[in-house]
Amino acid sequence: MQTLEKISDRFWYLTPVSETDRPILGVVIGDKRSLMIDAGNSENHAKYFLNELEINKIPQPSLVVLTHWHWDHSFGLSALDMISVASKQTKTEIEKQVPFEWTDVALDERVQSGVEIEFCANVIKEEYGRERNIRITLPEITFEAMMQIDLGGVTCQLQHVGGDHAQDSVIVYVKEEKILFLGDSIYANIYSSKRNHTVKRTLELLDMIDLYDAETYILSHWRPVSKLEYQQEAALLRDIARLTEQFTGRYEAIVKAYKAQVERELNEDELETIEYFINGYELDGGIIG
Ligand SMILES: [Zn+2]
Repeated sequence: MQTLEKISDRFWYLTPVSETDRPILGVVIGDKRSLMIDAGNSENHAKYFLNELEINKIPQPSLVVLTHWHWDHSFGLSALDMISVASKQTKTEIEKQVPFEWTDVALDERVQSGVEIEFCANVIKEEYGRERNIRITLPEITFEAMMQIDLGGVTCQLQHVGGDHAQDSVIVYVKEEKILFLGDSIYANIYSSKRNHTVKRTLELLDMIDLYDAETYILSHWRPVSKLEYQQEAALLRDIARLTEQFTGRYEAIVKAYKAQVERELNEDELETIEYFINGYELDGGIIG
């Protein structure tokens, strides 16, 4: 069940759905305009969000920004009668999908050839069922590094940050509310033979995020987290990045060193993070051992 939740008078969001990979959708409410963050994974998702806004008497957005090109953040665009904004790279990536067909056969072929990944093909089938009304729509306004939008009484800073998950990733900083919408930026790269994090990209990304003074961080497939929770997540990524480099991708050595550091057994999330960094180390051409 998706619900519309309020963080402040100026910011609401729709909770995510894991079965169909629907990410969080946000709205920033200015005195003059409202800005929607991410377009949703389908027209149904986008319309559901707009309807929830209406029920809660929140002004309909006239602008939408995409955090990155992935289907679950961009396919709802065709249902939105508003001006769309994205990074230049996001537009380029979306453009590549224009010629695609979305039948089971076409999806399976793309999985076979490595253009698509099985995870996304499966959730697309789950979200759309038999009725694949997918109309790839391109964003209208693009920017390269940064863009500021004054919505009246509240400002949004859109910053291209890249990262492993999607090199076109943009974060949205809602300055007056100290909310930082991270999208999927800190997640691993899933469009790869092996899910992975790389040391360099992770550290660069975390440094960029640290430039923003935020109290609430929004992770698109999870929930809004506090500064403390974000810092714990970021510290895990930084520590494992450092250990991956130090122990040249050797699993046992990294686990041992991190265990000694935290003085307890490691949980599943931490072990998975280590695995992803080792994958990234190998894919980057690093020699393990
Ligand atoms: Zn994504």
